[in-house]
Amino acid sequence: MAKVTLKNLRHSYYPNPKKPEDYALKEIDLEWQDGGAYALLGPSGCGKSTLLNIISGLLQPSEGQILFDDTDVTETEPNARNIAQIFQFPVIYDTMTVYNNLAFPLRNRGVEEARVDQRVREIAEMLELDDMLDQRASGLTPDNKQKISMGRGLVRDDVNVIMFDEPLTVIDPALKWKLRSKLKELHQKVNVTMIYVTHDQTEALTFADQVVVMQDGEIVQIGTPVELFERPAHTFVGHFIGSPGMNVLPCEVRDGAAYFDGQKIALEGAIGDVAGAKTEIGVRPEFVSIASTGLKATVRKATNIGRHTVVEARVGDIKVNAVSDKDNFEPGQEIHLKFDPAKTRVYADGWIATDRAVP
Ligand code: ADP
Ligand code: MG
Repeated sequence: MAKVTLKNLRHSYYPNPKKPEDYALKEIDLEWQDGGAYALLGPSGCGKSTLLNIISGLLQPSEGQILFDDTDVTETEPNARNIAQIFQFPVIYDTMTVYNNLAFPLRNRGVEEARVDQRVREIAEMLELDDMLDQRASGLTPDNKQKISMGRGLVRDDVNVIMFDEPLTVIDPALKWKLRSKLKELHQKVNVTMIYVTHDQTEALTFADQVVVMQDGEIVQIGTPVELFERPAHTFVGHFIGSPGMNVLPCEVRDGAAYFDGQKIALEGAIGDVAGAKTEIGVRPEFVSIASTGLKATVRKATNIGRHTVVEARVGDIKVNAVSDKDNFEPGQEIHLKFDPAKTRVYADGWIATDRAVP
């Protein structure tokens, strides 16, 4: 097991990169603690797989270093890094039985058969593969094949890091939920550093203690699921996490105050230097309430989502979502909106630009 450190990491797939756009990874500095459960979350193409492949050694970075504990492994062969990597699509031996597939990584390293048998049965039980151990892998469903693939990654107990690259893509939705919570459980049991890559916020937030949010080859925020929800460092995080995402509203900043639709908006803290930047107010629908006074708005649509109603309103022609525990809203209805000041911030060119609220 190991702490993973990435230092000044940059990667381009081009031979002579010049512009920032030439880099799939722009400048990554990161430290993952030994035994932690981490997620790497971001839209398709933001550089997640590139980063994983650099950590496992399948790819050499253009610049920067990778350290396991305090040993530089940048030049170390993938095999010698002792990493288990699970890919989007199953990597298994079709002609072997399920048992032999799971046993392979251990036998390959000369683990004695009694221990192999014990580990294979443990992992098979955990992944609910125990009743098909004698079957050939070729006849199995994609779900089961991917479970074998995961099992092959999990079966060794001497790895530094286990990395999952969107492993649930091929899994049936009903099973996804189950496997997700299994992985979490597993992490608590084995305590190996795990890095889970996904574009799905639910997967990231349920699995990880800490989530790294990426966009366009850069890290935009690292935080616990609660931190990402409560205080997005960037409008991208506000939008990407949450359902619906954070409201991002055009605003004007004058004399240290923010104005939206001509009204002064109370904020979490003082506004920093925003001169020349595009300024916006960010507030999550969960922190917008429907009140008897406040910003004048018109209901466009109300969608009941179980215990809450998502009210889509318009202030002028700007869309503002609110979450309410009432469900008596009609399209066209005139309402007033209030933002919770402790959860309302100004963003400048996308980045948070208000001081943290003093508790
Ligand atoms: P993600 O896993 O987040 O979807 P990737 O790491 O696969 O993103 O890709 C990041 C960027 O690098 C994308 O713009 C992608 O097109 C590019 N890219 C990925 N692999 C290669 C490659 N082998 N050659 C050239 N460009 C690549
Ligand atoms: Mg990928």
